[in-house]
Amino acid sequence: RDLVSPDADGDEKSIEAALRPRRLEEFIGQARVREQLSLVLQSALRRNRPPDHVLMSGGPGLGKTTLSMIIATELSVPIRITSGPALERAGDLAAILSTLSEGEVLFIDEIHRMARPAEEMLYLAMEDFRVDIVVGKGPGATAIPLEIAPFTLVGATTRAGMLPAPLRDRFGFVAHMDFYAVEELEQVLQRSARLLGVALPDDAAREIAGRSRGTPRIANRLLRRVRDFAEVRADGIVTRDIASAALNLYEVDAEGLDRLDRAVLGALLRKFGGGPVGLSTLAVAVGEEPETVEVVAEPFLVRQGLLARTPRGRVATAAAWAHLGLTPPPDAFG
Ligand code: ATP
Repeated sequence: RDLVSPDADGDEKSIEAALRPRRLEEFIGQARVREQLSLVLQSALRRNRPPDHVLMSGGPGLGKTTLSMIIATELSVPIRITSGPALERAGDLAAILSTLSEGEVLFIDEIHRMARPAEEMLYLAMEDFRVDIVVGKGPGATAIPLEIAPFTLVGATTRAGMLPAPLRDRFGFVAHMDFYAVEELEQVLQRSARLLGVALPDDAAREIAGRSRGTPRIANRLLRRVRDFAEVRADGIVTRDIASAALNLYEVDAEGLDRLDRAVLGALLRKFGGGPVGLSTLAVAVGEEPETVEVVAEPFLVRQGLLARTPRGRVATAAAWAHLGLTPPPDAFG
């Protein structure tokens, strides 16, 4: 697995759990989302009612799971965690919904991947706290309504645009999670370093933060690699030079571009002369699913000013040519 892949594997999940902020106050960055959410939660607590359903959209590793757990903690209610792909049949969802306790948070990760029948069951559950259990088949089938406890749905998606409108409209609050600023990632790193017992000078934190692809999960991962490197090569003392040497060793480039980012950019420049080229053509050229290119690589490249999405396709910017040390063709920006 790539060091800067935004997805977490099994081992990492347990480390992540230990580094997860538990309260809204401890959650770093995403200032607007935090403030909006704080209002939603406080007013719910005041009215002693579950808050509106919450939809969180944003790329992997930006803190959607963390925030959903914080919602439950702040409301002092339990949380049930599942994911869209796990809800293949309506019955899978019914089994969960019918056993929720009063006020419980139901977190559905990758909610845009839920199967259609489950999705339709969810509409009614979100709106009326009721599900219709269909008994029998064909003309003799009957729907038996079943009341469920009022709950709060927290949905997370990397692709808000893929959610059907009827589902999207049933969320009272949509939180858009964006990439983190370098200063915010420095704070994430300082907090994690404290928890891991690593002394992290400010300039070293800045060095790691700048290469973390705007993503806390990656920042935490790079911190652990830097710590390992320092333990083996520098008696455990982390300095900016040590951080930089460690990250160079792991092939994280100065802007934090990972292998996929570089592959996408490289193909765009070398195979398509900087574009414009369509998403699926570009995805085939790097051997990835279009969704992976669109959700994982592109948002960061766009934010770094290396790639632009235009109606005619993906286009490399002048900065992209410079980043890969290539010379654009003379008519590239004419
Ligand atoms: P995915 O959808 O891929 O599971 P996610 O968006 O749910 O990703 P999380 O699992 O919530 O991401 O976060 C990844 C890690 O980053 C967590 O271990 C958490 O410690 C850390 N993290 C995320 N956001 C913050 C934050 N705002 N402050 C501090 N740490 C954070």
